[in-house]
Amino acid sequence: MTRNASFPTLLPVYRRIDIVFERGHGPWLWDREGRRYLDFASGIAVTALGHAHPKLVAALTAQAEKLWHVSNLFRIAQLETLADTLVANSFAETVFVCNSGAEAIEACIKMARRFHWHRGQPERNRIITFEGAFHGRTLATISAAGSPRLTEGFAPLLDGFDVVPFGDHEAVRAAVTERTAAIMIEPVQGEGGVRPVPPNCLRGLRELCDEHDLLLIFDEVQCGMGRTGHLFACEAAGVAPDIMGLAKGLGGGFPVGACLATARAASGMTPGSHGSTFGGNPLACAVANAVLEVMLEEGFLARVRDRGRYLRERLEALRERYPQRLTEVRGLGLMLGIRPAMENAAFAARLRERGLLTVPAADNVVRVLPPLVVGREEIDIACEAIEAALAEGEA
Ligand SMILES: *Cc1c(COP(=O)(O)O)cnc(C)c1O
Repeated sequence: MTRNASFPTLLPVYRRIDIVFERGHGPWLWDREGRRYLDFASGIAVTALGHAHPKLVAALTAQAEKLWHVSNLFRIAQLETLADTLVANSFAETVFVCNSGAEAIEACIKMARRFHWHRGQPERNRIITFEGAFHGRTLATISAAGSPRLTEGFAPLLDGFDVVPFGDHEAVRAAVTERTAAIMIEPVQGEGGVRPVPPNCLRGLRELCDEHDLLLIFDEVQCGMGRTGHLFACEAAGVAPDIMGLAKGLGGGFPVGACLATARAASGMTPGSHGSTFGGNPLACAVANAVLEVMLEEGFLARVRDRGRYLRERLEALRERYPQRLTEVRGLGLMLGIRPAMENAAFAARLRERGLLTVPAADNVVRVLPPLVVGREEIDIACEAIEAALAEGEA
């Protein structure tokens, strides 16, 4: 068969920006032409410790020389360390390690259903989710988010999700029935436009779950792992979920995800009920352990909060100076979003021309996601680029 030469060899599911990066260091990236960019996209909140962090490089290369893969047929020392560290530093009592955010959320969904099934209530299998949410691209996770932008053409979708408007307390209460198993929410919506859920709302969801014996699932795939200045975003609200999904920053650029849970929420997950060939492999876990070691160092998260405050102040100052062109600054820690008056992707393109990488999100937001190791000097450079792009005015 001859190849259709007009069809791209790479499945065209992305509209890619025409830049090929060759190397990175800290918050900086260099493309093939040697042009330097300040990376405030962080591969969509993934490279939390910047590029080529010496501790991550050392952990990965040392592990690469010893052992890559044995499968979950055997104990894996690096995996056990990762689980112990996550448990020691979160609400959780048990951890399942996988390879991506969508897989982490799949595990959360399966666990919540299995919990009620295991207790003899298999009819309790519906999960309340929120408009504007993003939980990944598998059939279950697009069904959970429910947005036509994600689901169009992929029917039949997975049944069992009741999507309610974001921020509508009454709608959540009204959606709870005898068939509800859980409520799943991102403590800060990422793709939805950097929309933090107010602490009192998270507490309200916790109370609602306790009242109706529902499981509370937090999708911290994007907002977790130090992004908000706390290891997990929910800590700031003083609310613990029953189940939580992690990925993105967890591997600092190496693919790894995790589903964390209390022993109670995980009680249905018996041997054979779930698994992954690659999940928890020594390479991924060695890197995740190094990421956690750095993030748990004394002062690391306080420094993230400090940088977050500084960046936010500078962005707010720009909003005050250009109120017609920059209408809003929102977010927590180093998970910030700005709303330009012009189209967000066009504004991000302007920033890119000035050497600053950002990420568009829904609600016309441009996400500003520097690596958590960013310095004030680099924040200054980024804000100068943003100011210059604002001063350019409307095209
Ligand atoms: C990115 C993301 C996911 C999906 O992660 P993948 O690794 O792309 O599968 C899920 N939930 C949230 C909140 C995310 O930001």
